[in-house]
Amino acid sequence: MIKRQRILITGQVQGVGFRPAVYRIATALQLSGFVYNNTSGVTIELQGHEEKIAEFLARLQSDTGKPPLALIKTCDVLDIPLVESEDGFHIRTSDSQGTPLSQVTADIATCRDCLAEMADEKDFRYSYPFINCTNCGPRYSIIKNIPYDRPNTTMSVFVMCDKCASQYADVTDRRFHAQPVACPTCGPKIRLTDGRGITIQTQTEKVIVETARLLLAGKIVAIKGIGGFHLAVDALNNNAVERLRERKKRDHKPFAMMADSIEKTKQYAIVDSLSEQLLKSPQSPIVLLPKRKNCPIAPSVAQGVSTYGFMLCYAPLHYLLFEHDIDVLVATSGNISDEPLICRNETALERLGDVADAFLMHDRQIFRQVDDSIVHCIEKEPVLLRRARGYVPTPIIIEQPCTEDIFAAGADLKNTFCFAKRNQLICSEHIGDLEDAEVYHHYIGSVEHLAKLFEVEPKIVACDLHPGYFSTQYANSMTGRRIIHIQHHWAHVASVLVEHGIDGPVIGLVCDGTGYGSDGAIWGCECLIGSLEKFERFGHLDYYQLAGADKASKEAVRAVLSLLKKAYGGKFSITEFDWLLNRIEPDKNKLQIISEQLDKDINCTETSSLGRFFDAVAAMLGLGNYNHFDAQLPMALEAIAADDIEDGYEYDISLPQGQSCLFNPAMTIRGIVKDVKDNIEPGIISAKFHNTLAAALSAMAKRARESTELNTVALSGGVFCNRYLISRLVKLLKKEGFDVLFNRQVPSNDGGISLGQAAIAANQQIKEKEHE
Ligand SMILES: [Zn+2]
Ligand SMILES: [Zn+2]
Repeated sequence: MIKRQRILITGQVQGVGFRPAVYRIATALQLSGFVYNNTSGVTIELQGHEEKIAEFLARLQSDTGKPPLALIKTCDVLDIPLVESEDGFHIRTSDSQGTPLSQVTADIATCRDCLAEMADEKDFRYSYPFINCTNCGPRYSIIKNIPYDRPNTTMSVFVMCDKCASQYADVTDRRFHAQPVACPTCGPKIRLTDGRGITIQTQTEKVIVETARLLLAGKIVAIKGIGGFHLAVDALNNNAVERLRERKKRDHKPFAMMADSIEKTKQYAIVDSLSEQLLKSPQSPIVLLPKRKNCPIAPSVAQGVSTYGFMLCYAPLHYLLFEHDIDVLVATSGNISDEPLICRNETALERLGDVADAFLMHDRQIFRQVDDSIVHCIEKEPVLLRRARGYVPTPIIIEQPCTEDIFAAGADLKNTFCFAKRNQLICSEHIGDLEDAEVYHHYIGSVEHLAKLFEVEPKIVACDLHPGYFSTQYANSMTGRRIIHIQHHWAHVASVLVEHGIDGPVIGLVCDGTGYGSDGAIWGCECLIGSLEKFERFGHLDYYQLAGADKASKEAVRAVLSLLKKAYGGKFSITEFDWLLNRIEPDKNKLQIISEQLDKDINCTETSSLGRFFDAVAAMLGLGNYNHFDAQLPMALEAIAADDIEDGYEYDISLPQGQSCLFNPAMTIRGIVKDVKDNIEPGIISAKFHNTLAAALSAMAKRARESTELNTVALSGGVFCNRYLISRLVKLLKKEGFDVLFNRQVPSNDGGISLGQAAIAANQQIKEKEHE
């Protein structure tokens, strides 16, 4: 029977080659009709034999039929009246091009088809470092403006040759409307310069051979990739890696590495099947993998952590380089210290001239810098630690659409910001720490640019409660809009809720370094009863004093002294604990000053920070006294935790006067101090400490369940980047019968705050509309 049907498809179906795929299947099945993008997805009308239409739907949803990057969320089919004398099947471009958000898609790693062509000597793109197609290549990083057409990308300066142009125009070709399509004749080119920018080589093959030679000789090469420059060095050459550390002014932070295959990665790290899938995924993130013992990776690549960060080659240029005997490279962000990633040739030469011995550059401009994303696996689920290349700007979808646009400013550390437009929450890529003037400048520029790109005009602005945050001050300066200040840990809980598509209330366990509390104290280990609508504080780590505000987040001895005073009260004296303090801070005078500061409450703040508690324990175990980068000491403490330890320390959770549930750390600290004195192995003490926290947090959740009858627990906050702790806690909570949710799509650290803020603001707006 001849039928006509209208098919409405939602999901990630725009900017991924969906309409050409529809066209190919429809014409192969001799169906007539048309396809176009609408504001929420794709509309298709088909006319022909009933079975053929059914066949069409089956093929479109099969892995071989739909484009690799497409994700079909819903597919609704409607019978409509037949149309007479229809002439074949057409892609309608005259209709709406879709929302600005869905036109801009993420940068995608080179696909298998392109790799095969690149390796084929007979192909006209043989060994071409910029080969790409509809299914792969740069997107977000090259878009200057919408609509997403070549003239609005940084490819506009390259005029397509006839061969490229015919593929671009051919609806049956893999490169139909692939905006960055290019070849050796018409596209971007690479060149190699020395450290001062003087050209050494411009011929593609020679550039690659020479770059590989330099890397194998231990030189540092700045390599321009998709979202910015990498600083690359041979990861097996310790002298070279140390030289990079010294020049980059990055004393301690682990470096990421790049390899060209899973097999190679497995030589250095333990790769399970989920990690393998992530490494090979189109997003191609850095995946944190347990180190293999006694492997030849230079020790200074990643000290004080138990994992290596590995990614596979994701640009054609990377693959070409690895063809020349390169085994594994350090590939770390091209920047100095914590400044923004560098993506422009001139800036690279200017800023990295003292770091890199040579520059492998190209003339395809990167318009938006996008760092590599970082993922690790928790309880067999991929969890993002840094969300950037490959994942941004894919939106997180909410059920009910907002009627007014929202801007969420995020937090100051590991900043991201977020826009809400209709039913899409769109988070920016990782921006960085706003304390750095360069980063703050980049933040403001990015907010303005992305608002324009996505056609967002925020009427509502959400930000943190912290009056001192740069992001809050920026939000406050946006006059004429409604500004909503949102407590930090509530935003953390909300980020989990919105990711999982629920409104709450839930029991939220939020553990992190610092966040401004509703009472003016610095919170950091919280049990909240929270929904998208409101929250209350059910329990927390009992307050302790931190002397010297900002210094306390870097210098562990400040938390050590405070926690020892809390644990021993009047019995504490510096001389009595000389044996312990001496290994942390040998300067007696300094200890005395901090101690007096605490006693007299001079420049002290009350805190329930769990991050600082970790710092203190790490310091007591001799792992250092200083966080040279965020969470260095907590990460070192996690790295030494012994396996197979079930014990913990005693802990004290009480409900004083039926008020908040308090976790008093005194008993736990006394247990740790005793073990240190008894020369118990640090790895065992670390494991026991982690186990204690998991037990205490789980006990707090049980108390919360008793008083609220809620059974879902949401975990968030930077401390939950700690795999040992979160895995342990999830197991305990599940054993107690809780449903456990945690962040996956956005980081549990402050990189997820903007999403939580946006979700709360969106919910508030939707609820107000309902009441009108
Ligand atoms: Zn491709
Ligand atoms: Zn061409």
